[in-house]
Amino acid sequence: MQAQIDQYTAEINAFSPANADELETFRIKFLGTKGIIKDLFEQFKTVGPEEKRTFGKVLNQFKQLAEAKYNELKETLDSGPKAKDLALDLTLPGEDFAVGSRHPLSLVRNEIIDIFKRLGFVVAEGPEIEDDWHNFSALNFPEEHPARDMQDTFFIKKNSGKDDIALRTHTSSVQVRMMEHGKPPFRAIMPGRVYRNEAISARAHCFFHQVEGLYVDENVSFADLKQTLYHFVQELYGEGTKVRFRPSYFPFTEPSAEMDVSCTICGGSGCNMCKYSGWVEILGCGMVDPNVLENCGIDSKKYTGFAFGMGMERIANLKYVIRDLRLFSENDVRFLKQFQTEIL
Ligand SMILES: [Zn+2]
Repeated sequence: MQAQIDQYTAEINAFSPANADELETFRIKFLGTKGIIKDLFEQFKTVGPEEKRTFGKVLNQFKQLAEAKYNELKETLDSGPKAKDLALDLTLPGEDFAVGSRHPLSLVRNEIIDIFKRLGFVVAEGPEIEDDWHNFSALNFPEEHPARDMQDTFFIKKNSGKDDIALRTHTSSVQVRMMEHGKPPFRAIMPGRVYRNEAISARAHCFFHQVEGLYVDENVSFADLKQTLYHFVQELYGEGTKVRFRPSYFPFTEPSAEMDVSCTICGGSGCNMCKYSGWVEILGCGMVDPNVLENCGIDSKKYTGFAFGMGMERIANLKYVIRDLRLFSENDVRFLKQFQTEIL
């Protein structure tokens, strides 16, 4: 009996089926109702008590071996390729894998950076947690300016004013850092995330993205500002896009303006996006206030400059017609997938 079991054990260990039929034959032969194991257990009944002690254990181990082998092979066959496909076919196509897509804000940011890089602007960045000096004081914000109010700003530390620490409310703080630590000329754009204490809705969010631009040198004029932004808009929205400047107010520029472009959706004839005016505002700009230059240690008699700032969400809205600001930060794959082709 021992010799028989040894022989079957060797057979089981060496067994390697080419397909499911061979495995089934194996099952019937060893584990079937009229199979070898059943037969061995029948024989076992007839042996003497001495042999029963020896063979009881051996027989059970053998049975377990056969069952384990069968289960293992069945699993391999079920999950693996069909036996007839096992031969390697080099003409088979590779397996598809999902390609991610760029976020619409990244697309817009990269496009803006590309346009200004061609004009000789470098990219600069600064911290999102700012002190009062860089976010407000150096930028000529009067003490009583409403933007310093708790309603608009996320303060991390609020004391008397000049020691305040806050999440930056605009990327203009990067201008200050740049001018403090360098010498003119400056020609840079500064993309980044900014924070305002606002309720989240389709039209407002507590954080959004800006791109700041700064150009400081001798003899920089408002005409340079207009021409630079005009060129930018032609590159971004296509030739023939009209621009207009409206007088405005910002603490850190004088004079200040807001710039509109002819509506990119309707072309100027009037639609929902432009509230039937034909124009949409895309950025604020102006000549850097001499006080700001002096605050940063730059001689305002010798140097002048212009600055501008735009919301990336606004630019993306006009490009992709995204009506709800919240979509940008919800990470809904159905939304993000729509920009899939842009990466290729
Ligand atoms: Zn329109």
